[in-house]
Amino acid sequence: MRCLPLTFLLSVFATHAQPFRLPTANVAIFEPGGEERYFVGTVGKPWMSGTFGCVRTEGWQMHEGLDVRCLQRDRQGEPTDPVLAAADGTVAYFNSKPGLSNYGKYIILRHQVEGLDIYTLYAHLDESAPGLRIGHPVKAGEVIGKMGRTTNTRQAISRDRAHVHFEIDLVVNERFPQWYNHTFPGQRNDHGAWNGQNLVGLDPWKLFVAQKERGAGFSLTSLIRSETDLCRVAVRVTTFPWLRRYPGLIKTNPVAIREGVAGYEVALNYVGVPFEIVPRAPSELKSKARVTLLSVNAEEQKKRPCRKLVTNRGGRWQLASNGQHLIDLLLY
Ligand SMILES: [Zn+2]
Repeated sequence: MRCLPLTFLLSVFATHAQPFRLPTANVAIFEPGGEERYFVGTVGKPWMSGTFGCVRTEGWQMHEGLDVRCLQRDRQGEPTDPVLAAADGTVAYFNSKPGLSNYGKYIILRHQVEGLDIYTLYAHLDESAPGLRIGHPVKAGEVIGKMGRTTNTRQAISRDRAHVHFEIDLVVNERFPQWYNHTFPGQRNDHGAWNGQNLVGLDPWKLFVAQKERGAGFSLTSLIRSETDLCRVAVRVTTFPWLRRYPGLIKTNPVAIREGVAGYEVALNYVGVPFEIVPRAPSELKSKARVTLLSVNAEEQKKRPCRKLVTNRGGRWQLASNGQHLIDLLLY
């Protein structure tokens, strides 16, 4: 009888240890020297510009996902690769009007991984799978659409650059539409909570490699919590939605357990992911201000400045307007 629960535990462990699969049949990312066959660079730039991070405009522009090269084409040379769900989940959103986004037609899926609320995004699709509905469940590997070249940018996407743009994201605040109306009155928001400003991405390449290397020992929570600080911010706010959706990112602090919580210390990586949240006791919060910038990792900011979250004015670090907006949205 003791075998049963063990088998059960192992199967649960196995499914959680490798939460994500690749979004198309292209697996060159795992082959030595296969990067050229996996990533599509921007016009006239090498494959690195199709990876995640500060890879555009000499490092000053962020690319939030991976641009995955197509493997199959029809007679006209149009991409036909099936696009696959990267994990079990449900359909969170899809945009079927390419004119409304530089992502063209795109799909967002929602996943629960180790109790974290995680989203994957698939962009520039030719079409989504028939019958796809918001809220419907999808299985990992299920075909959710067909690769295409849809976008609303003037430059368009040429046939030879055909790719799926793939992201793995966390959502900053589900009350984004209210925050946006309040912060930018009169400005259009076509995608509700699925506005790009409300998504903070993880590097999918780094994640896939870590999954492969660590096998059954892989943990998404550990991967996120091992991100590098760009800066740390203290907030005198005791409740905000992130705490509820990402409890695995909250660090235990015995002082706050003993004395009570007066606010939180939030560590942001260069993308703006609040990857570690530390409850702070009243005695630990030095400033009376609602938001205080505690520290900046200058080396990281120099290496990866593209989100422009912090800025140095006359030798003093401060949150730049992107950083202020992000914290404001996080706490809204
Ligand atoms: Zn892209």
